[in-house]
Parts: sequence; C-alpha cells; structure tokens
Amino acid sequence: MNPIVAKFGGSSLADAAQIRKVAAIIKADSDRKYIVVSAPGKREDGDIKVTDLLYQCHFLAERGLGFEVPFSSIRGRFSEIVHELGINFDLEGELRAIYERFSAAPDRDYIASRGEYLNAKIISDFLGFDFVEPADNIFFGENGRLDGERTFAGLGERLQDLSYAVIPGFYGAMPDGRVRTFSRGGSDITGSIVARAVNARLYENWTDVSGLLSADPRIVTNPKVIESITYTELRELSYMGASVLHEDAIFPVKTVGIPINIRNTNQPDELGTTITSSLKDDTQARTVTGIAGRKGFSAVIVEKSMMNAEVGFGAGLLQVFAEHGVAFEHCPSGIDTLSLIVNTEHFAASKEAILRDIWREMEPESISVQDGLAMIAVVGQGMVLSRGTAVRVFKALADAEINIRMIDQGPSELNIIVGVDEADFEDAIRAIYRGMESLM
Ligand code: ASP
Repeated sequence: MNPIVAKFGGSSLADAAQIRKVAAIIKADSDRKYIVVSAPGKREDGDIKVTDLLYQCHFLAERGLGFEVPFSSIRGRFSEIVHELGINFDLEGELRAIYERFSAAPDRDYIASRGEYLNAKIISDFLGFDFVEPADNIFFGENGRLDGERTFAGLGERLQDLSYAVIPGFYGAMPDGRVRTFSRGGSDITGSIVARAVNARLYENWTDVSGLLSADPRIVTNPKVIESITYTELRELSYMGASVLHEDAIFPVKTVGIPINIRNTNQPDELGTTITSSLKDDTQARTVTGIAGRKGFSAVIVEKSMMNAEVGFGAGLLQVFAEHGVAFEHCPSGIDTLSLIVNTEHFAASKEAILRDIWREMEPESISVQDGLAMIAVVGQGMVLSRGTAVRVFKALADAEINIRMIDQGPSELNIIVGVDEADFEDAIRAIYRGMESLM
C-alpha cells in the first residue's frame, strides 16, 4: 500500500511532551513512513518560535553584532527537548558548528532553516528513523521557484530506499547549493512535495486545530468544522482569509490527486478536514462549505456612455492596471459602467498614475474611487445544484440592516461574493453564517 506522509507543525513539536504525542501518532500507523517537521513553535501565548529567534540571530549577525542572547534561547529550547526525551544526541557539537557558520557567513535563509534541521535530527534520533537532508533533495531553480521536475523524481528515489525517514520542512537548495527557504509556514509545502515524490496515498498535516473551520472563530462563536472540502473551495476560502495550510502547499499534491487531511495533534481521534480534488459524489457537495472575507478593498468605477458597444474598452482598462503592476480582484459591470475591485494597499502606490492613464486612454465620462470595502465569499461546490442560496445571503444581510455594495457570482457558482462597508464586516459575516448554517 502507498505510504502516508505526515507533517507536524511547530506547535505540535514545541517541547518534549508534544514530541511524545507526535511519536505516539506516528507509531499508531506503520504506514506513516515519511515525517516532515517544523521548528519548535510557541509553547504558550507570548512564547517565541525558534524560527523567530533565528531571524533575530540573523538580524544581529548581519550587522556584525553579537547574537548570543537569541542563540542561547535556542540552545535552551533544544537542550530541554533533548534532555527530556532522554536521548544521546550531540547537541553541543551541532550548535557549535551552526554558531561558527552564523558568525562566518550570516546567510538569512541558512540561519532560518536551522530550526527545522535540528528538530528533524533530534526527532529522527528519538524515533529511530533515517534523516534526509532537504538541501540535497529539494531544488529551486534560478528564479527561486521550486524545480518540481528535478525534485519529485530524485526525492522519490532517495526515499524509496528508506523504510522510515524524517525530513526537515521549510527549505531546499538553489542550483549553486545555497540553502533557500520557502516563505513562512513553508513546511506545509515540504510535506506536499514529499507526498508527491513518494506517491503517498495521503498527506496528513498535523497542527493544533481540529481542521478547517467554516468561519473565522474570532467572529463567529463555535463555527462548524468542515469535514471535507475540494482543493478549489479551499483555495477560494484561503484567498479570502481562512488559513490553516500554506497556500502553495496545495499545488504539488493537487495535480496528482493526493488528498490532504488536516488533523489535531492534541485531539488525534478527531477526523479533521479532508481536502480532495473532487467529492466522491454530488450528494456530498455541501451547498455552503464555508464563509470567509477580508477588508482593505477599493472599487474603481468607470462610466462612459455606450461603453457596452465599444469593443476593447474592458481590455484597455485592464491594460492600464496591468501596466502599473496592479492586479484586479473582481470586475462587476453594468451597461455603461465597469468597476474594478482592487486591493487598496497595492492600488494606493500608483493610484494617481493609473487614474491619469485611464482618463487619457479610455476617455471616460467619470471615474470614482470608493475605499473601505470588505469582501465576503460564501463558498460551496453544491451551490450549483441548489436554488435559493443567493436569496438567503441577501435576506440575512437585509435582516441585519447591512447595505450590500457589490455582488459577484460567476456561472460556475462556486461562490457568491458580496462587498460591504468595512464597518459592517464582522456583523455581515455573523449574519450570513446564521442564515446559511442549516446548509453547511
Ligand atoms: N518554521 C517556519 C516558520 O515558522 C516554517 C514552518 O513552521 O512551516 O515559518
């Protein structure tokens, strides 16, 4: 049977007690053969992640300043782990080599990667598994993007020879061999790469929540856990602010259809959320899978009589934004109006130039910009099969006396997006959640 790849996040490995829980999970299923680990994360609120301590070391080392203070905190974290696990691991030797390297060449990515490296060394020793070095097996191209072709085949071959292995998350190597990290939270991506390389039957992502929630728990009390979701739905929800997995972790497994299971290290009996390419059958498709949203959008509204008959108007308008490197998020239109919804921060940097170019090139009758917009997406693969979903969203907002400033729904009906005033954002999410709860 194909193996399972299990990735454990920083809070699952924050101290020896957590590492023991992780070991019990791994030993409970002999198919959990390839283990990807993060650096030790926060043990409690206010604690500092080892990766953040490493970035502090880099900040100081780069300026030629002493970095003993954060370095000794790192030493403290790891020596407590090694001591409490009761293993015979040469931590001092490892730390000495790392300290010398930091002093000689304070390379940011190399420094940041040492949390994952040391944690994986310690955990492989504790479990009695082999250690596999990502810098020898996960490759970036010159452009800084993952070189999938080179990585998947080589890593697959390397792991094939090993029954059980631990692989540090978060980094690989550039073509010249220099260590390169993914962006923050990137061990999720490593897990996905390893799953793809060994053709895993499942990629388990163990964290400290029992799966993806159907709404932000800071806004809605006790939102339901999503049991199953498609990659596409997840992408929509994560884009709109729901977070449980690094965005780039989906792509390596999505193309080959390996499911991802988000699980809770502290509640291992809970089934968590399963992410798949498609649901087993349409009856499984929920009308509404989740609700997510974000603040910080602006609408640029352009009006011109007979716009609908002017071939190329839309293309010209989008071209202006493209030339200034500003992406648009949505494009609701009327007969003689076209509006682009853009990220306020990205737009602000070139706002004056963009408006000037629209006046010059498109010769509109008016342009207006409205800031302070929040976008909310109601996402569900099953929406396409049901009637009356939109009405429930609008009724929920109307009952809560919230003004809808924009509506967007594509014919694939994967989501309904509404724009509201930022001041109404939280109330709107709560109102929609209440209105849609029975469909989730
Ligand atoms: N340790 C890295 C971070 O804190 C990567 C990870 O945990 O996924 O971002």
